[in-house]
Amino acid sequence: MRTIKGTHFIQREHPELLKDESSLSGGNCQVAAWPSDQTEAAEYMKECLEDGVPVTVSGARTGITGGAVPFGGAVVSTELLKGIQATPSANIIRVQAGETLDSVQEYCKTEKPDMFYPPDPTETTASIGGTIATNASGAGSYRYGSTRRWVAGLKVLLLSGREININRGDHRFSRGKLKHPVLGTITLPNLDKPQPVKNAAGLYILPDMDLIDLFIGSDGKLGLIVSADLILSRKPHAIASFAVFCNEDQFWELRSDLISSSLPMRELEAMAETCLPFLEKNTEKSYPQSKGWVLFTSIDVASEEELDIILETLEMILEEKGISIDNTWGGFDEKERKRLKELRHLLPETVNRIISNISSRNSMIHKISTDTAVPPEKLEEYYRTMKNILLNTGVEYVIFGHSGQGHLHANLIPENSDQLLKAQRAVELISIEAVKLGGTVSAEHGTGKLKAPLLRLMYSSRELNDMNLLIQSISSC
Ligand SMILES: Cc1cc2nc3c(=O)[nH]c(=O)nc-3n(C[C@H](O)[C@H](O)[C@H](O)COP(=O)(O)OP(=O)(O)OC[C@H]3O[C@@H](n4cnc5c(N)ncnc54)[C@H](O)[C@@H]3O)c2cc1C
Repeated sequence: MRTIKGTHFIQREHPELLKDESSLSGGNCQVAAWPSDQTEAAEYMKECLEDGVPVTVSGARTGITGGAVPFGGAVVSTELLKGIQATPSANIIRVQAGETLDSVQEYCKTEKPDMFYPPDPTETTASIGGTIATNASGAGSYRYGSTRRWVAGLKVLLLSGREININRGDHRFSRGKLKHPVLGTITLPNLDKPQPVKNAAGLYILPDMDLIDLFIGSDGKLGLIVSADLILSRKPHAIASFAVFCNEDQFWELRSDLISSSLPMRELEAMAETCLPFLEKNTEKSYPQSKGWVLFTSIDVASEEELDIILETLEMILEEKGISIDNTWGGFDEKERKRLKELRHLLPETVNRIISNISSRNSMIHKISTDTAVPPEKLEEYYRTMKNILLNTGVEYVIFGHSGQGHLHANLIPENSDQLLKAQRAVELISIEAVKLGGTVSAEHGTGKLKAPLLRLMYSSRELNDMNLLIQSISSC
């Protein structure tokens, strides 16, 4: 196993270990280790526990909440934990934590050409361990749900280095209690109200849930995921994707018609009005309209006949809204769909690039964004509130994301420390409004270090204390 020691040496030789995509600054650690297998990882974790050294697990560091950024102690990187294997079950593969989403899709292309792995959190260089730890979602979660639904088993090293295998179906809580041979008796915190449907804030808690669901989305706090059994889904005959360039009224009407249509949509995404001008200003791209909204949808198609019906239905809906088909990009094969995916991905990538540049001049600046979600039927009302709060800051912003699931991200671009404070306050106000509407302060990125303070907007001190006690009791096993 490769290990290196010394705060300054790590800062100089491996600065990448001290940052993630949030550009959160101040990361530091005394030791870093790259175990190449589970045995090495277990020995290392045990050593850290015995020496009282806190461990931060580091995946591909594409996270945007600083979860993988260490503040002291040791970093254990999963970078060398590689390997993908078939299992006796045709639709399950065993994947080591350091493999990326890209490599899983490549494996499927060659070894399981009829299958694919549905979770698609846009950033395909994310590690499998990281996507499970954050219960990542993406555009396709509208149809396929978040990562949770696609994990059949986990091998986890507890912070003590003890290994546990957790297979879905083996251990279930009953009224918030479970007896486990290694973990002992686990009692789930009693929440005052059930968690929102799309939620990545705090531990996942449902009184009758499967044990595996406690570990999925636990943001690296319950141990190191070394490998996972991932469930594959059968590929549809084809996927038809569309980017519809429209105005705001047309967007909300179209969104509502599509939600109530019977089209088998896998995604229903949005870019609000400031996104296209922002992209045209900061990249060399140009689009069918230089302002206005974009609605993205992708539809699973079962046959050629169905494709014809889908095209007819969509054309009819667009015509009714007065949207010209010339203002729509369509994609029916992988190459055409790539253009649409690139447009959608370019936005967060450009924001992250700009923030990283500003941060290199002013280390106080880091990613300032919301990951809030509300019940989908309340999104239009919520969007207007978000916009008013953002306009009041005077800070440049873009709003985009998973409109079908009531989940739009606001990303702010503070240029200086004064704007940073205004942007932080705006994130807090937007989060308060989300909770008021029955939503969450984080729907897919987790709260990591940057957004941990927002948890108090959603949970009482008693609930947060109970979650921490549960983390401590599992860590000490
Ligand atoms: C341009 C861009 C777009 C994005 N879009 C989306 C999106 O649409 N949806 C979405 O959900 N996310 C999105 N993300 C965020 C990010 O890609 C996800 O959060 C991803 O799941 C993080 O994976 P990672 O391997 O990079 O984890 P890291 O950033 O390395 O770590 C994230 C957290 O997981 C923990 N962790 C990592 N590996 C393990 C492990 N093996 N065991 C236990 N804990 C572990 C870390 O300690 C940390 O708390 C985006 C990021 C970027 C840069």
